[in-house]
Amino acid sequence: MTTVLERPIAFDSVLATVAAIEDLSPHLRRVTFVAPRITEAVTAGPDQRIKILLSPPDGSELRLPSGPEWYAEWCATEPEARFIMRTYTVRALRPAVSEMDIEFVLHGVNGPASAWVSDVTVGQSIGLIIPFAVDTTSTKGLLQSGVDYVPPPTSKRRLLIADETALPALAGILEELPSDVQATVFVEVPDIRDIRALPSPGRTDITWAAQTGGPDDAPRSVMEALKAAQVPFDVDYAWVAGESGMIKAARRHLVNAVGLPKSAISFQGYWKRGEAQI
Ligand SMILES: Cc1cc2nc3c(=O)[nH]c(=O)nc-3n(C[C@H](O)[C@H](O)[C@H](O)COP(=O)(O)OP(=O)(O)OC[C@H]3O[C@@H](n4cnc5c(N)ncnc54)[C@H](O)[C@@H]3O)c2cc1C
Repeated sequence: MTTVLERPIAFDSVLATVAAIEDLSPHLRRVTFVAPRITEAVTAGPDQRIKILLSPPDGSELRLPSGPEWYAEWCATEPEARFIMRTYTVRALRPAVSEMDIEFVLHGVNGPASAWVSDVTVGQSIGLIIPFAVDTTSTKGLLQSGVDYVPPPTSKRRLLIADETALPALAGILEELPSDVQATVFVEVPDIRDIRALPSPGRTDITWAAQTGGPDDAPRSVMEALKAAQVPFDVDYAWVAGESGMIKAARRHLVNAVGLPKSAISFQGYWKRGEAQI
């Protein structure tokens, strides 16, 4: 029998317009999108993943996908002629005013999404594939709804590990942390100026690692910080998200050195150094 954690949600595409742009730090830019249908959008969790769609590399106009076969059709289209698709997190959703925020890492112009956001202007359009409705006919679980942060309801002691691409998800997770939950957090950012406040109603203990800037003896990577730390022995759930090599090393450390059971760790590669995502 299939266990139904929660009903998964159905995704659909919309054309959205950039309504506001705010630089949160040197490497993170928040973009607010508006589209009439965002009034009906939903999220299944604070790390809800979505897709952004950009015009195809051949310069043709973006045509929004539709119908159940859209992905097979996209795969069958020549790479130059198919729209560019990248994965991001819903940082905030305000259906009442048809708004959605995404926080983009500015990692240069070597990727189409980062290049797009580097010189984005208010009024520009973009395609989004976002969650719309609870699919009451499906028996798939919550993990099919584009979320990976699914702590067991009994969890009181969590370990959260993120890099800058997972910082938007982490910020959302901490905002929703119940007041009786303790979270030990490790975050890696490109620059010390990317460190920011992460408010939470829960109890948090946050260690930042900045690749550049800051005192000489400060950790430069999540792994450096993690290895130097005393991870609480009673952690009952860990969420690890970020660069593929980093998450694998962190998971190995948590299993082999800390002794966490593999089943208590949700780990998700958000990007891979030297490789484009789709
Ligand atoms: C579930 C999920 C949620 C995500 N949420 C977010 C989010 O909210 N915000 C966000 O910014 N990203 C997020 N990402 C990561 C984002 O999808 C990748 O960083 C993606 O590669 C960006 O696409 P691009 O077109 O800029 O670069 P690509 O074309 O995919 O890659 C081009 C080059 O850039 C490199 N690259 C990619 N990302 C980085 C980086 N951060 N730093 C340095 N080099 C990089 C690649 O290794 C490659 O060499 C998420 C990914 C997943 C799977």
